[in-house]
Amino acid sequence: MTTPLPATLLIVDDTPENIAVLFTFLSGQGFKVLVAETGEDALENAHEEQPDLILLDVLMPGIDGFETCRRLKSDLSTQEIPVIFITALSDTLDKVKAFKLGAVDYITKPFQQEEVLARVNTHLTIRRLQQELQAQKAALEQANLELQRLATLDSLTKVANRRRLDEYLQREWRRGVREQTPLSLILCDIDYFKNYNDNYGHQAGDDCLQQVAEAISKAVKRPGDLVARYGGEEFTVILPHTFLEGANQVAHFIQHNLRELKIVHSHSSVDEYVTLSIGVATMVPHPQKTPEQLVGMADSALYEAKKQGRNRIVLNDGLK
Ligand code: GH3
Ligand code: MG
Ligand code: MG
Repeated sequence: MTTPLPATLLIVDDTPENIAVLFTFLSGQGFKVLVAETGEDALENAHEEQPDLILLDVLMPGIDGFETCRRLKSDLSTQEIPVIFITALSDTLDKVKAFKLGAVDYITKPFQQEEVLARVNTHLTIRRLQQELQAQKAALEQANLELQRLATLDSLTKVANRRRLDEYLQREWRRGVREQTPLSLILCDIDYFKNYNDNYGHQAGDDCLQQVAEAISKAVKRPGDLVARYGGEEFTVILPHTFLEGANQVAHFIQHNLRELKIVHSHSSVDEYVTLSIGVATMVPHPQKTPEQLVGMADSALYEAKKQGRNRIVLNDGLK
């Protein structure tokens, strides 16, 4: 375990003798002690040195302790530093005022040194625990974000999984209904993939799926486009605000990217390399229709592409 650095305290008092007493005592207790004789100095000092705790006199010429505290608390860089007032005023109203201004405690003069030490240590501990808690909270939030990301990813291909696809499609469908903008959907299915697995093995099949997912991902450009694994060797692309011609272009990019990879498939009846059959469909979402209908349209187009001989793109604008 590493030894924590000694805590830094800032003493603010306009009376040098008061400062001297506290300085000697607290330095003797192992603290690093800074001093300021005016409120203005204290603000500057607190800002620059970021002490762990401030002991603040109330009555001072210039800005008094209350005003100094108010300014410390309204400055983002100093507002978390605990402030303990040291005051000769035992008036109830002033104590209430001190707390209202954000002080954590007060000590009335004349004080016992042991009391000062006890209160300082208590508030340093509270502050340290608060900081630890904040750090843990931040770490937890980070872990949560990562978990959310993983929960929506397909672990093999690293594109969105089916769950994310369904959510995204519903969301973009509703947006399309509101904005009356076209929504396109592409369904891709690897040709003769069973043969690929049977001949090259499941591991090679998995590698192939990863490469195909990458080829598809590279074909989409807009931040709103989503590539997802629909299941097995099928992938989907959702293209919001996109007409059929635009979706057709993306489908061609996908074919082009895959062809460039030249993944040898000697057991395909359509080509020497791995190929895709692609169905593309577009709809302007309507409250009387459903996103499942859009998927159905893309699926019929895909079926048609398979039927026509595979390794091709078939478009479905819903008119036929
Ligand atoms: P078609 O050209 O008609 O699409 O024929 P196909 O063989 O591609 O289609 P079929 O639906 O008969 O077979 C799909 C194959 O995809 C079955 C399985 O071997 C393979 N497959 C599905 N999921 C995975 C996976 O996660 N990893 C691997 N390696 N193979 C998978
Ligand atoms: Mg299939
Ligand atoms: Mg297939």
